[in-house]
Amino acid sequence: MCLFCKIVNKEIPSNIIAENDDFLAFHDINPKAPVHILAIPKLHVDSFNEVSSETMAAMTKFIQEVAKETGIDHTGYRVITNIGENGGQEVKHLHFHILGGAKLKWGHFSDADPKDFL
Ligand code: AMP
Repeated sequence: MCLFCKIVNKEIPSNIIAENDDFLAFHDINPKAPVHILAIPKLHVDSFNEVSSETMAAMTKFIQEVAKETGIDHTGYRVITNIGENGGQEVKHLHFHILGGAKLKWGHFSDADPKDFL
C-alpha cells in the first residue's frame, strides 16, 4: 500500500484539514510556504495522467473548499501537481499541492531558460 493510501486509512498520522467520502486534505510534512496543504483522492490514482475527468471535477470543488476554509481564497494561492520523473513526483498517489499564505516566488521558473536543460 502506498504512503498516501496509508494516510487515508489512518495507518500513518497526518494533520487533516478537510475530509469527505472521496477526498482528504492534510498539511504537507515539509512545507514550502506558510500554507502548504496536499489534497488527494481517497481512491488510489497514480498521477494526473490516470485521473478521470469526473474525479477532477469533484477534486476542483474540494480544492476550492479547502482554500476557502483556510482563508487563502481571497489572498491567492497556487495549485500544483507533479507528474512522473521529470515532473518531480515523489509520491505515486495523485496529490495537489495547495500553496499560499504569502506572496509566492516563481520558484524554478524565475530564472529558468530552456537552454539550461540541454
Ligand atoms: P511530490 O514531490 O509532488 O510527490 O510531493 C510529495 C509531497 O509529500 C512532498 O511535498 C512531501 O513533503 C510530502 N509528504 C511526504 N510524506 C508525507 C507525510 N507523511 N505527511 C505529509 N506530507 C508528506
